[in-house]
Amino acid sequence: MFDKVLIANRGEIALRVLRACKELGIATVAVHSTADSEAMHVKLADESVCIGPPPARESYLNIPSILAACEITGADAVHPGYGFLSENARFAEILAEHGVGFIGPKAEHIRLMGDKIEAKRTAKRLGIPVVPGSDGGVTSFEEAMRVGKEIGFPLLVKAAAGGGGRGMKVARDEASLGEALSSARSEAKAAFGDDAVYLERYLEKPRHIEIQVFGDGKGNAIHLGERDCSLQRRHQKVFEESPSPALNREMRGEIGEICAKAMRELKYSGAGTIEFLYENGEFFFIEMNTRIQVEHPVTEMITGLDLVSEQIRIASGASLSVTQDEVQFSGHAIECRVNAEDPLTFAPSPGNITYYFAPGGLGVRVDSAVYGGYRIPPTYDSLIGKLIVHGKTRTECMMRLRRALDEFVVDGVKTTLPLFRTLVRNADIQNGEYDIHWLERFLAEKT
Ligand code: ADP
Repeated sequence: MFDKVLIANRGEIALRVLRACKELGIATVAVHSTADSEAMHVKLADESVCIGPPPARESYLNIPSILAACEITGADAVHPGYGFLSENARFAEILAEHGVGFIGPKAEHIRLMGDKIEAKRTAKRLGIPVVPGSDGGVTSFEEAMRVGKEIGFPLLVKAAAGGGGRGMKVARDEASLGEALSSARSEAKAAFGDDAVYLERYLEKPRHIEIQVFGDGKGNAIHLGERDCSLQRRHQKVFEESPSPALNREMRGEIGEICAKAMRELKYSGAGTIEFLYENGEFFFIEMNTRIQVEHPVTEMITGLDLVSEQIRIASGASLSVTQDEVQFSGHAIECRVNAEDPLTFAPSPGNITYYFAPGGLGVRVDSAVYGGYRIPPTYDSLIGKLIVHGKTRTECMMRLRRALDEFVVDGVKTTLPLFRTLVRNADIQNGEYDIHWLERFLAEKT
């Protein structure tokens, strides 16, 4: 096991990793920018190192600074959290070259899944069903038109280097294909420095359902069921639940085993999420994330497993702590991402939290790193925290979520709490009847 872990992240995920380390008896090192010197993860870590000024590229993305922090503190491994350097294969390699462990998958798998065209090709080869589309990248308009004629419209133009929903454009018909192609390419170039794009059939009413997987790097792998993340705004998840209201035990077992088998073949190591769109009883792979995800607590609540501690154990060379047969799913869990944003316009609302009260009681968990008097810097994402609720049934879970949302107080900044209070009282949400476009439609009607 590692002796000292450096957490190369901030906010709630830095705290989440720190908690897992403490419970495993591992010493912790926090790194932070000058904007984060009052952050909770800095206060609670055994040691902390300032790694640069507020902009992420000069601090949380600054590999030489993070490496120096490892050296100064003697940390023997780095947990990257999500975002920042978590899917940077080169970072994993550089750490290895310096004798520091990376708590994540092998660099080759990060690289493979980071290129969405390669990822899709690999998924197909491993027997995972994929969205019909171009066979690889598309460079010319003529090529795009050929694919369009073959698989039909509407089509989605997607960035190979994509992430966070950027570089994605819908072409409804032949006439709009040229425009979709060029705008997706320029957006991808601006966001990722890479204008490679590919085409997919645009699914009209799918759900977003993802499978959590874990591998030990030696050919053993399991799945921990699904998360339904269909409630999205601008392709960003807002509310996640497990089990999905759309799946039953057989369907879960079937798609879960397809994913676990693929991970066994890859000899995948650590935590991963295989994301699908699900429509009319069919699954279509869209991408794989090779890191812990924001919504991982939903899976923890229904399996009783600590996913971050499992990541740390596996990275240190241990085997999976459970076999597939030992994984038990119990009850229902829902997560709401509470952001410091206007609940209608979603404009960021950084600033001083004048009063903070988090809900509690049976089945209620809040993963957050803020406190009363904390100033949310304008530099980073607007996540204040995640409210995760567990119940024996989906109905109990929804009732509990309603009362927990009513208890939650965050004063001084605008938050998305009022939006969630409306959503849990909505009949479609209560019935689990929503697809990936539901929230956008709902918001359009309200404004
Ligand atoms: P990113 O890496 O930018 O998050 P993803 O491929 O994971 O991109 O897609 C993000 C979201 O975009 C999905 O959850 C879904 O809402 C939407 N999306 C992606 N591919 C399609 C598709 N073929 N048809 C319809 N919607 C899609």
